[in-house]
Amino acid sequence: MTSFNRRSLLTGTMAAMAVGLGACGSSPQAAQSTSAPASSEQPQEPTPATSLTPEPSSSPSPEPSASPSPSASPDSLMPKTSHNRAAAEYAYPSEKVQAWMKDPSSAPEKIVFLTFDDGPNHTNSVQILDALKAGGVHGTFFVVGNLVSSAPETLKREIAEGHSVAMHSYTHNYNKLYPGRAGSVETIKDEYNKTKAALEEVLGADFKTNTWRYPGGHMSWKKLEAADEALAAEGVHWIDWNCLTGDAEPKNRQPKDVAGMVKMATSAIGEGLKVAVMLAHDAEGKDMTVKAMPQIISAYKEAGYKFGVIA
Ligand SMILES: [Zn+2]
Repeated sequence: MTSFNRRSLLTGTMAAMAVGLGACGSSPQAAQSTSAPASSEQPQEPTPATSLTPEPSSSPSPEPSASPSPSASPDSLMPKTSHNRAAAEYAYPSEKVQAWMKDPSSAPEKIVFLTFDDGPNHTNSVQILDALKAGGVHGTFFVVGNLVSSAPETLKREIAEGHSVAMHSYTHNYNKLYPGRAGSVETIKDEYNKTKAALEEVLGADFKTNTWRYPGGHMSWKKLEAADEALAAEGVHWIDWNCLTGDAEPKNRQPKDVAGMVKMATSAIGEGLKVAVMLAHDAEGKDMTVKAMPQIISAYKEAGYKFGVIA
């Protein structure tokens, strides 16, 4: 990895992020009539949410008072997951969250998933982490693979503080991922493998996420079925969003100030959205998102939402 700055690449492609999106709370599927239901959306395993709860350490731990082994720490990565042991209480598989988005009545309670795309970095990602910590809540970080080695400490902090780390391609380059606006299965598989390797390099071979977010959103592109299936063969499922801060909307739809962003991001509450998956960005320069986050968190808390992460 070089220190080549990809920021211009990222920001240059942001505008299409919200293609077809309606107001906060609208369904991504509804936004694009041509989008065929992805096979990965079919709930294959009706595993109860509690299945993520770590087995009550059946492994013998003879000396609980001795210095805890790294694997026993609630802050350390839970093997074969995307989060630490403490997060197992509020981590849900992407397939389940996807199913809840489609049929909110199947969700047990009001729950919000704060998701942050396009990190990690040493600036905004860190400020978002501070805001989540101050609010005592957790989120899911959809990282871009080619940025991973530039901010390993940030990534490790995301795990240590109870968040989940998921994949958001390696290059975030729309032209490579979706030539002619149609998904390239070869490129997407290659970017998945590279991102997986980059994450394992920093977080260890025990890191495993089952979640992928397509740059621009699954809703925005054509012919992703083959890529969906290739990811599913790896146990990985895509997820979009149904609610947003608006921090990557086209200029004419972007909130003009913090109050406007809070209003957009919390409209789901007024709409009675039971399962809110919120799109936000921790990319460098997304400063309004950092400023708005404390109020967004407070509003969802006051409205009685639980905060989950996507595993
Ligand atoms: Zn992105």
